[in-house]
Amino acid sequence: MAVDNRKADASVDSLHRIFTVPEAPNSTLGRIEKEISENLNAFLQTHIAAREKPLTEIEKDFSSADIPENPSFVSDHTAFLLDKLVAQSVHTSAPSFIGHMTSALPYFLMPLSKIMIGLNQNLVKIETSKAFTPLERQVLGMLHNLIFHEDNAFYDQWMHSADHSLGAFCSGGTVANITALWVARNNALKPDGEFRGVAQEGLFRAMKHYGYDDLAVLVSERGHYSLKKAADVLGIGRDCLVPIKTDGNNRVCIDDLKSTLFSLKERNIKPFAIVGVAGTTETGNIDPLEELADIAEEHDCHFHVDAAWGGATLMSNKYRTLLKGIERADSVTIDAHKQLYVPMGAGMVIFKNPTSAAAIEHHAEYILREGSKDLGSHTLEGSRSGMAMLLFASLNIISRPGYELLINNSIEKARYFAERIDAHPDFELVSEPELCLLTYRYVPEATQRALAIATPEQKAELLASLNDLTQFIQKRQRESGKSFVSRTRINPEKWDRYLTTVFRVVLANPLTTNQILQDVLSEQQLLALQSEISYPKIMALTEEILSH
Ligand SMILES: *Cc1c(COP(=O)(O)O)cnc(C)c1O
Repeated sequence: MAVDNRKADASVDSLHRIFTVPEAPNSTLGRIEKEISENLNAFLQTHIAAREKPLTEIEKDFSSADIPENPSFVSDHTAFLLDKLVAQSVHTSAPSFIGHMTSALPYFLMPLSKIMIGLNQNLVKIETSKAFTPLERQVLGMLHNLIFHEDNAFYDQWMHSADHSLGAFCSGGTVANITALWVARNNALKPDGEFRGVAQEGLFRAMKHYGYDDLAVLVSERGHYSLKKAADVLGIGRDCLVPIKTDGNNRVCIDDLKSTLFSLKERNIKPFAIVGVAGTTETGNIDPLEELADIAEEHDCHFHVDAAWGGATLMSNKYRTLLKGIERADSVTIDAHKQLYVPMGAGMVIFKNPTSAAAIEHHAEYILREGSKDLGSHTLEGSRSGMAMLLFASLNIISRPGYELLINNSIEKARYFAERIDAHPDFELVSEPELCLLTYRYVPEATQRALAIATPEQKAELLASLNDLTQFIQKRQRESGKSFVSRTRINPEKWDRYLTTVFRVVLANPLTTNQILQDVLSEQQLLALQSEISYPKIMALTEEILSH
């Protein structure tokens, strides 16, 4: 316990101390470092939420808006962080945490991430990154190769070329999608005669020059919400992101896409990009990319594939054909912080054509000089960390076959879980796993029989109560802290497109066992009985329907 009369002071000397490398392992900072590692280890080995504390309670620990007038000792502050922050954070690496796309990390990333923080390189320009720049360019080349399979001569020519770029490393799928559509917009409204292009003159004059009444980007109704943000910041407006209907498997309806394109053309609206989703966020389904590529080509649209989550499937020789057609995309988004198991803050957009990114090229005098290899001339973000190093390390340490094992096991585990759900009398599989993501819900066996013969009114009432019950179970399960699944709402064909609340499971953690999955179902079955409103209501209505 700290002695109360110890007091840190804000002197130049003490500031020098915190910027200096600790000389001895038994120095204060060395000791703290060890303590943090041990504490994190312990945290990572325990349950999801050690003691559930309401958020309003936690907020009290973070309630002052005053910047401290007095400095703290690192040791004291570390104690605060371990107690108030670490202990109350979410254990995303637990094998029973199967609700989200970002999950457990390989442990080697902890020590290796120190290299990134320690060196604090800035990838915006070569002067502040040196070897990190070729490393990042190589990583982009590797991902380009994974998607587009060009030959060695191609990579020799373009990977390190100053005036080209095979992609952009960024903070995540959102920025990657914005970057892709930015390129698409600027290429669609490029310089033409007197007109100096949308990048220079803006949207208003671009529309006048090209004579369009409006612009559009087409994506299935399952498209990620980041595309709406992109439409907004690119000045075309969210309404111009046109949602296309999906079929019973959550894939874009080609016929609806074709008729939408036809009607846009009639109204003098220029569709400048078609987006295919390779792994929808809610159900993990993949659009028919080959057909989308044909249509994009026919209509002279930029073809972007949002494979933020599903793109890593390309690592698997067994399953990569699920994404067939992706190699015809003009740009592809992939998040390394999802199925490539890298810490958050690692997204990429990859361009098929090394000259594509010229449409967003930006130069400045003191920085990003023309002809330099500065990565900042082709990125939306400015200063950027050496995060690519962690992906580089993972690609080397895990290797392609290692990733293939991770991907294959995840997909096969999802299939196993789907079979268990299907075989269980009281559960209903709502979406089959195409990758390692599936949705389902709890519907007692008798209620399933009742639903089959219910009148439309009874059915509506049952479905509404089942939604409440799913929500109840999911919240209770999260609060009880043993396991976590997420929930979302989708409109399955089977239930006449009724907006249905479902459990959503992403099976990315290699340590999740079949037993854990069984336990999740058993726990949900028990939790259902604890619902004091929806469960009795469902049972009463079920009985009423079945007794007639
Ligand atoms: C996760 C995801 C995104 C957004 O990525 P962030 O890294 O969260 O910004 C975009 N599209 C799809 C399909 C995703 O799954």
